[in-house]
Amino acid sequence: MQIFKVGGAVRDRLLGLPVTDIDWVVVGATADEMLAKGYRPVGADFPVFLHPKTGEEYALARTERKSGRGYGGFTFHASPEVTLEEDLIRRDLTINAIAEDDLQNLTDPYHGQRDLEARILRHVSPAFAEDPLRVLRVARFAARYASLGFTVAPETLELMRQLSESGELQALTAERSWKEISRALMEDQPQVFIQVLRDCGALKVLMPEVDALFGVPQPEAHHPEIDTGLHTLSVLEQSALHEQPLTVRWACLLHDLGKGLTPEEEWPRHIAHEHTGLKLIKAVNERFKAPKDCQELALLVGKYHTHCHRALELKASTLLELLQNFDVYRRPQRFEEFIGACEMDARGRKGLEQRSYPQADYLRGAARAAREVAVQPLLEKGFKGPELGEALKRERLKALKAYKDEASA
Ligand code: ATP
Ligand code: MG
Repeated sequence: MQIFKVGGAVRDRLLGLPVTDIDWVVVGATADEMLAKGYRPVGADFPVFLHPKTGEEYALARTERKSGRGYGGFTFHASPEVTLEEDLIRRDLTINAIAEDDLQNLTDPYHGQRDLEARILRHVSPAFAEDPLRVLRVARFAARYASLGFTVAPETLELMRQLSESGELQALTAERSWKEISRALMEDQPQVFIQVLRDCGALKVLMPEVDALFGVPQPEAHHPEIDTGLHTLSVLEQSALHEQPLTVRWACLLHDLGKGLTPEEEWPRHIAHEHTGLKLIKAVNERFKAPKDCQELALLVGKYHTHCHRALELKASTLLELLQNFDVYRRPQRFEEFIGACEMDARGRKGLEQRSYPQADYLRGAARAAREVAVQPLLEKGFKGPELGEALKRERLKALKAYKDEASA
């Protein structure tokens, strides 16, 4: 048997990037030989094994054929006769289809090195179209390597467009899609992921609510970039520049969905878009079964981002209501993420990226003031149950009034 390094490990070494996980392909072996050498099988009928010591993935060379719709509809054939070239041709991109032996000799039948050099993401063969997940993967690699100058080959973008139009994308499971989306959002340039999906028509299929934002104008006085779609891309870009966590990036992507519902005669104003957007945010959340913390933050940011922008003008009672709605006493982290997303929203405006955002510290201070109200003295006065809750609210309101007076003095 022969063993080769493949995929990301080879690609990233050639790019001079750090290599984290290594994928291996094994040619000329049977499953029984692998088991005899102590490798542990990953699944009952999948030809992938884990190394007994390193735990790295070793896959038997295989060919794949599509046998039906969706991902379940895949049959593969692994046997000692399958050659390295046959295994490499089933892979998504030429830059991911280079194999390396233990002397660093490269096998590169589909010219991945040439495309690395030329900074091109190009599909290996027409079989690319057999798995619609590859549309998302290519967009994710585009986001990851955009800063190195990589772009998607026109013929690959064309294939991605055909896949998007064929309805195959809908066959993807929420789990597979979310895995790609969440990884893509955590790349350096997540806005490129959305842009590439839009360029090939996949965004319209996967997230029509986001696609609808392009071409929708906003008032130039607040939004010099005007277009709501471009604004959303900039907010996402800012979220990566400021190293925000996934929850915040997801909320950034969805915060303005309501603007896509505004009747044209009301443009460029978007009255109550915070409210109208909620059902769209909920729909996208559920479509991809986003984790609970992502879902929750997206809804809260959608509902309250304008509150944050207007924080300095809010009455003490409105501030209190906001803090109560966030349950800021038990969930301080979530409130911090809300502030982060709103700051990215403010910075994701053309020419205003560097403008200070005093609302952030102002709201942090308000949260502190409300949290510092102690329960003990109220207990000592004999308050219990709902009355205790009411008394606590009164004290917090007092504290917020004092905070507001001090801040404006
Ligand atoms: P990463 O750095 O994200 O791990 P990677 O290229 O190693 O990048 P993996 O998901 O680990 O990506 O997959 C390893 C290799 O398997 C890929 O480089 C590619 O050759 C192949 N591959 C993985 N998923 C697919 C797919 N859906 N279709 C085609 N080939 C795939
Ligand atoms: Mg990998």
